[in-house]
Amino acid sequence: MNIRTIAVLAAVLFPIAVISAPVVSAQQKPPKPHAESRFGSHLPPAAIAALQSIRPDSIETHVRFLSHDLLEGRGTGQRGGDIAAEYIATQFALYGLRPAGDNGSYLQKVPMVGITPGGDTRFTLVSSNGSATDLKPLDEYVAYDQTQQPESKVDADIVYVGYGIEAPEYNWDDYKGLDVKGKVLLMLVNEPPSDDLKFFGGKALTYYGRWTYKYEEAARKGAVGAILIHKAEMASYPWEVVRNSNSGEKAYLKLDGNPRLKAAAWIQLSIARNLFSSSGLDLDRMMAAATSRDFKPVPLTVRLSAHMTSKVRPFESNNVIAVLPGGSALLKDEGVMYTAHYDHLGIRPDMPGDNIYNGAMDNATGCGILMEIARVYANAAQKPRRSIYFASVTGEEQGLLGSEYLGKHLPIPAGKISLDLNYDDVRPLGANEEVEVTGADRTTFYPAVQAMAQDFRFRIRPDAHPEAGHYYRSDHFSLARVGIPAFSINEGIKFKGHDEAWGLAQDEDYNKHHYHQPSDDYHSGMDYTSDAAVARFGFALGWEAANQARTVDWKKGDEFERARHAGD
Ligand SMILES: [Zn+2]
Repeated sequence: MNIRTIAVLAAVLFPIAVISAPVVSAQQKPPKPHAESRFGSHLPPAAIAALQSIRPDSIETHVRFLSHDLLEGRGTGQRGGDIAAEYIATQFALYGLRPAGDNGSYLQKVPMVGITPGGDTRFTLVSSNGSATDLKPLDEYVAYDQTQQPESKVDADIVYVGYGIEAPEYNWDDYKGLDVKGKVLLMLVNEPPSDDLKFFGGKALTYYGRWTYKYEEAARKGAVGAILIHKAEMASYPWEVVRNSNSGEKAYLKLDGNPRLKAAAWIQLSIARNLFSSSGLDLDRMMAAATSRDFKPVPLTVRLSAHMTSKVRPFESNNVIAVLPGGSALLKDEGVMYTAHYDHLGIRPDMPGDNIYNGAMDNATGCGILMEIARVYANAAQKPRRSIYFASVTGEEQGLLGSEYLGKHLPIPAGKISLDLNYDDVRPLGANEEVEVTGADRTTFYPAVQAMAQDFRFRIRPDAHPEAGHYYRSDHFSLARVGIPAFSINEGIKFKGHDEAWGLAQDEDYNKHHYHQPSDDYHSGMDYTSDAAVARFGFALGWEAANQARTVDWKKGDEFERARHAGD
């Protein structure tokens, strides 16, 4: 980066200096080319001016409105959520951005269904001698019928398939060609343990380890059901989490022709132990066997006999999408995308006291950042070469549903979107000295991210828990799985004037007392410096990606590389 840009960025980082230290003197020296990388930062003056105009108080104002009690917790498909979508669409219109939703509007309709398991659902294990055991809902198992029918019957053999993974790039196949059509598959969560980075990402979790993959793969292979064995250390969360996120109504995208399971279930470890022993097998031995590449599926002598009943409630919600057309005739058909989910958990009417899940941090902050970035792009004196898309998505808290739908119904083909930058839950804690960009290192854009972080004087904070697979739990992942290089930007732990322990304590307090609770409220007096800082950082990255000669790609061998090049 040249001296002038450093001076400007220094001014951006220390806003008081903007007033007192004019950058004119630095302009008199000839700009030095960036010495460190071939990407580097080549932002033109118009982009620097635009990012300088990003204001913390604009972001705060959006947060204040979106987390107001009047918005009723922005529930997906509920009035408050719809008002939030209209508010964001209105902002996009005021900035002069073009609509990129359905039929020339800013809204993209996302058809969904809510499924509530019926009280008369029966989930029964039948052994070869005919003895039947009814499992207790929530205590011993949870199960949803993903076929979106009011009633389904399952009566099928159970086959243990280890981790239930077929991953050609790691030379791993738990199925070994076995036809599992019409079967119920019993499997482990997570993936074969390894320290080898080239094997399922070493200690880090890849998508193959997530429960969502296991269900999808089982359905693709024609199984009628899949039962995941819950082991706390393997799932990295206790049974209570499984239980809480699998009770009551659960939302799904409306059927789209993809195969679905009649029974997508979890069982407690103790139930799995019994299930194996009544087939004359040992759970621990079976778990050990699954860690070998030579593992073969093991048919059990026990069948699943299930009568699934469900209340099926169709509803809809909307993603909000706008575009700033690019300035280059050659590249404006390609784009860079910004995303942030606007939905939260709504209201829980039966709860005494404050029962509105305002979601100020999660994710009114990300929406505020998205809108502020959109505003300054629209007002910039110059346009980046590629088009810039802004998508505020719905249904994140229901399982990344809005972004999944967006990934399957993009305004331009996935291969033409160079990069997605996502914001989720960026708490206003002051002047951050770090950024988190988990997943960026998997893309060819990483050198640019590193150079930019250096320009902004940010240390890049590594993912503290790669084994927990956080990368797969936020909206950028929905775009990654259709091949688009994507990651979230957040603020790290270390803030100016505080030590790391302070940052960690803030995290702990938030996670314990406010995360996904009605107390995630707006309070005046919080310091939005960090929100503005990560907005500027993301603006700079997006502009740079939009102007590069080539679109961003995944690094060789990455699990999303295949999706990126599926259409080549
Ligand atoms: Zn969120």
